[in-house]
Amino acid sequence: MVNGEIVGVFGIARDISEQKHFERQLSFNANHDRLTGLLNRVSLEDRLALDCHITRRHKRRLAVMCIDLDGFKSINDSIGHYYGDQVLIEVAQRMIQQVRPSDTVVRMGGDEFIVLLPDLLCDEDVVLVAERLMASIAKPYCVQGMDLHVSASVGITLSDGHIEQPMQLIQQADMAMYKAKQQGRNNFQWYTSDLNQRVCEHASLRNDLQKAIETQTLQLHYQPQIDARTGRVVGLEALLRWEHPEKGFISPAAFVPVAEDSGQIIPLSLWVLDTACAQLRQLSDQGVTSISMAVNISPMHFQRGHFVHYVQATLEKHGLRSEQLELEITESLLLNNADQAIETLHRLKALGVRIALDDFGTGFSSLSYLKRLPIDKIKIDRSFVQEIATDHNDAAITQGIISMAHHLSLKVVAEGVETASQMEFLKGSRCDVFQGYYFAKPMPFVELEAFLGFPTSMPDRQS
Ligand SMILES: [Mg+2]
Repeated sequence: MVNGEIVGVFGIARDISEQKHFERQLSFNANHDRLTGLLNRVSLEDRLALDCHITRRHKRRLAVMCIDLDGFKSINDSIGHYYGDQVLIEVAQRMIQQVRPSDTVVRMGGDEFIVLLPDLLCDEDVVLVAERLMASIAKPYCVQGMDLHVSASVGITLSDGHIEQPMQLIQQADMAMYKAKQQGRNNFQWYTSDLNQRVCEHASLRNDLQKAIETQTLQLHYQPQIDARTGRVVGLEALLRWEHPEKGFISPAAFVPVAEDSGQIIPLSLWVLDTACAQLRQLSDQGVTSISMAVNISPMHFQRGHFVHYVQATLEKHGLRSEQLELEITESLLLNNADQAIETLHRLKALGVRIALDDFGTGFSSLSYLKRLPIDKIKIDRSFVQEIATDHNDAAITQGIISMAHHLSLKVVAEGVETASQMEFLKGSRCDVFQGYYFAKPMPFVELEAFLGFPTSMPDRQS
């Protein structure tokens, strides 16, 4: 060992090992996620191909899981990325502990992970692993003395390894995960071929909607709101309408959720607000200044930064007074981050914009929130109004809502008023404003002008 030559050899050997180490480090960095140390998406395709091969050779079953954290975004958004990162590191460690060394855990990016289990004896074995993973992820994370919580939505697909394009398994697991999210999160769902069918429909709807946004073939219709005492039109609600070139009228209940998932809701929501304000301006120019315009606001748009600025800029652009605009919000706005939502509402209120709580009575309708919300109006959901003349429970609830709202100095709008007896009952219960087919259906702008008693528009004014 003290031989000079040997020492020389040692020197060379060390140089090579350093280089090897460096190369290994480079290759490690290329294939691994820097934050969690898990494999990254670069290595996924190779791993998956290898696992398909192993599964075929051993005649086993391969499970692919797509795992997305629930509630993670709000950690990043509300207390910062440092905390979010610590949670991700811990999630990765917990996941590794729940799988075998032959299994693979990949961080796809953000809070999405893929787990490959290539060596299952039977399909059901994956359930145990999914449940263990979900339970361990759902335990609290203590970061700098703060207890943080997330859960996991899991999509699962299975294969015998005989698949031409293994990456399709990732897509399938992703679709199933998406279904788990829709089922209320913190659960797992299997991929099924009908799921594929539905996702295809979903995708085609999304494409068509994109075209409709780009070519501006969506329309706003306006439904008048009638003052209960004077019988005059005091407001309008702008309602989005989509006439599909082949499929005909598509209900917002069908396409708004698609738009919310794809993010298209933001351009859509911007367009709605801008168009409604532009047409209210048009009415103002014709001397109608006492009518307000109600616009439904998507929670996603509302929660974005700059929402208040955008509202302000839109009002200024069209030269409208802020009290001419009414924003209709729903309670779902409060589900994610109630404090932040309430703060945004206060800022809108300071701007002078009116705020109405839509669909009242259908959600959790927490009365303690109602006290804290800086709102002007509540809109009683049509489902109550429908039965008020025949069902004494609905009648009692409606009367109760109206009386409570008045004690809180809130105005009450009844939606879906369709008959004279409903109108009479609501009038007797001191409801302030009516909206519904009994008075007027939602109508295109040109018809609205006629409804409001303007001389008929020139055809070229249609837009
Ligand atoms: Mg509404």
